[in-house]
Amino acid sequence: MKKYENEVKKYLKERDWDNLRPVDIAKSISIESSELLEIFQWTNQELDEVKKDKEKIEEIKEELADVLIYCFNMGVLLNFDMGKIFLSKLKKVKQKYPAHLFKNRDKKVDSDSKSIYWKIKKEHRNKK
Ligand SMILES: [Mg+2]
Repeated sequence: MKKYENEVKKYLKERDWDNLRPVDIAKSISIESSELLEIFQWTNQELDEVKKDKEKIEEIKEELADVLIYCFNMGVLLNFDMGKIFLSKLKKVKQKYPAHLFKNRDKKVDSDSKSIYWKIKKEHRNKK
């Protein structure tokens, strides 16, 4: 992660963008993630279908990279250790959604799996 943080630091410094306001970066993350979502507008393709759609795959890569770049911009400007915050949050998410509740569920039970997800999410939000 340090390699990417350093690349982004350099990219920002070279353009005098190393003092951008975090709110502007947050807006940009949201805008770019909307562009990612727009790729799927009016479609309901499953994973296998998307994987076969080479044009769509290239669009997804572009928008995903835009989101990542802005995420790194935010992390670098606020002096975050991106690897550390990533692993810390992943650990919390693993605890929030225990694997045994979701692993090896058949298609019939898939809707139950989604119900479990929303139940956990709702309980988590009510704790705050
Ligand atoms: Mg974009």
